[in-house]
Amino acid sequence: MAKKESSISWTNFTWNPWMGCHKVSAGCKFCYLYRNFENQNQDAKNVFINTSQLFKPLSIKKSQLIFTCSMSDFFLQEADKVRPQVWEIIKNSQHHTFQILTKRPERIKKCLPKDWCQKNYSNVWLGVSIESMNELHRLHTLKDVPCELRWVSFEPLLGEIFLSKDEIDIIDWAVIGGESGTNGNYRKSELSWFLSLMYQLRDSQTPIFFKQFGTWYHHNHFYLRDWKGEKYCPNFNEFFRIRQYPKIKDNG
Ligand code: SF4
Repeated sequence: MAKKESSISWTNFTWNPWMGCHKVSAGCKFCYLYRNFENQNQDAKNVFINTSQLFKPLSIKKSQLIFTCSMSDFFLQEADKVRPQVWEIIKNSQHHTFQILTKRPERIKKCLPKDWCQKNYSNVWLGVSIESMNELHRLHTLKDVPCELRWVSFEPLLGEIFLSKDEIDIIDWAVIGGESGTNGNYRKSELSWFLSLMYQLRDSQTPIFFKQFGTWYHHNHFYLRDWKGEKYCPNFNEFFRIRQYPKIKDNG
């Protein structure tokens, strides 16, 4: 696996062909994109094409896990004109794996390239964010999209999630985490929410990447050692030290 350049623990590299976004659900409330833009006196709702980064994957020779659009949503309407070019770059970068995560799965089908098929785009993992039961419908929408791998980011987890067996069967990889934030801009997470979800997924042998407990949990539990609630004290429950990945094709 190639060298890690992203601070996001479940990826190696982030690529932002465009930046900026609009909030769509409760999970967006403390979006870090908004935090970063506001710190620079920029309006996060002004979506712009990041031309200097557009062709970046083509210049990276070693195979990378690339989180695509960490500072936007890949299926944002404002990106419709440039997205076909980005699909071409993805198709021509078969040595990379592109992790795409959206809160707009209802737009996926109309935004796929004409030559979309598992063979041409086997290097794409398509995922949805689900923060609560209210957003479980995103998983059902994702199910209807033919793709190599479907994943879910349960972050920021805002409540208990109950999955049926059919729903669990859709998920090839699950990332789980509480909300991180500063200055009180984070919400509560409960151990029972994490435990319940992890037991459900573990029983069906779904690969789980437990990312973090979240800032609220950290502030309320002394044994977590960092501000995000990501690191544990040495004797913390081993159950949460789980950072699995789905099987990754080694393309070079
Ligand atoms: S969809 Fe993602 S990037 Fe866009 S506002 Fe919501 S959390 Fe932020």
